[in-house]
Amino acid sequence: MLLEVKGLEVHYGGIRAVKGIDVEVEKGELVCLIGANGAGKTTTLKAICRLIPSASRTITYDGSDISHAAVHELPRKGLVMVPEGRGIFPQLTVEENLAMGAYARGGIGSTEKQYATFPRLKERRTQVAGTLSGGEQQMLAIARALMGEPKLLLLDEPSMGLAPMMVTRIFEVVRDIASRGVTILLVEQNALLALEISHRGYVMETGEITLSGPARDLLNNPKVREAYLGEGAA
Ligand code: ATP
Repeated sequence: MLLEVKGLEVHYGGIRAVKGIDVEVEKGELVCLIGANGAGKTTTLKAICRLIPSASRTITYDGSDISHAAVHELPRKGLVMVPEGRGIFPQLTVEENLAMGAYARGGIGSTEKQYATFPRLKERRTQVAGTLSGGEQQMLAIARALMGEPKLLLLDEPSMGLAPMMVTRIFEVVRDIASRGVTILLVEQNALLALEISHRGYVMETGEITLSGPARDLLNNPKVREAYLGEGAA
C-alpha cells in the first residue's frame, strides 16, 4: 500500500468536515474520490498533504507515518498535490513554473519530458503563465507536479471550470500519467469521467465515505448513477 489513511478527522472550528474516514491507495493505482460540492473531498486531500491540521489515527505513506510531517517534507518524499485553482505562478513563464516544480523536489525532473507530454506548453514556454488559457494552466500545474517525479500525485478537481473539450483532454492526460506508473488520488465532481478512468473509487457525502469499490462497480451502482451520474431512480 502506498497510502493508508485511517480515521481521518478534520474540524473547521465547530464543523466536523471529515468524520473519521479510511482511504487506501495501492502503488500503481488510479483512485478517485467523488462526491457533491462541500462533501469534504478537498479537505481530505489537504489533510493528507498536511496543509491543514487533522486528527487522524494514522496517515501512512510509503511505509512511514506522515501524520506529523512538516508540509515541505512531503514533496521531497514524492507526495505532490496539484491544488484546485492550480496554484501556478502567474507572473512567471511556463519554463520558470516548471523549474519551480523541480526545485521543490531538490532539482530533479526534465522539462523536455514534460514538453513531450504537453507539446502546447513547449510552444508557450516563454509565455507568462497568467496569460495561458484555463486548460493550459491546468496542464502546466500537472506538468509542474510531474517535474518532481512524484510517487503519489494528489489531483484536486483538475477539470474544474474548463471547456468540455479541454475536460476530455485533461482526463486523457491523467489516464496517461497513471498508465506510466504514477499512482494517483483524484478528487473530482465529474463522477462519470473520473470513474471511467479510475481503478477504484470512493464516494464521499457530508464528511463520510458512503460507498467504495472497483470503479466499474460504482459506475453500475444504481445509487451512484442516480446521485452522481444524473440518471433517474433505477
Ligand atoms: P468542493 O468541490 O466544493 O471543493 P469538497 O467536497 O471538496 O467540495 P470541502 O471543500 O472539503 O468540500 O468542504 C467540506 C466542508 O468544509 C464544507 O462544508 C465547507 O463549507 C467546509 N469548509 C471548507 N473549507 C473551510 C474553511 N477554510 N473554513 C470553514 N469551513 C470550511
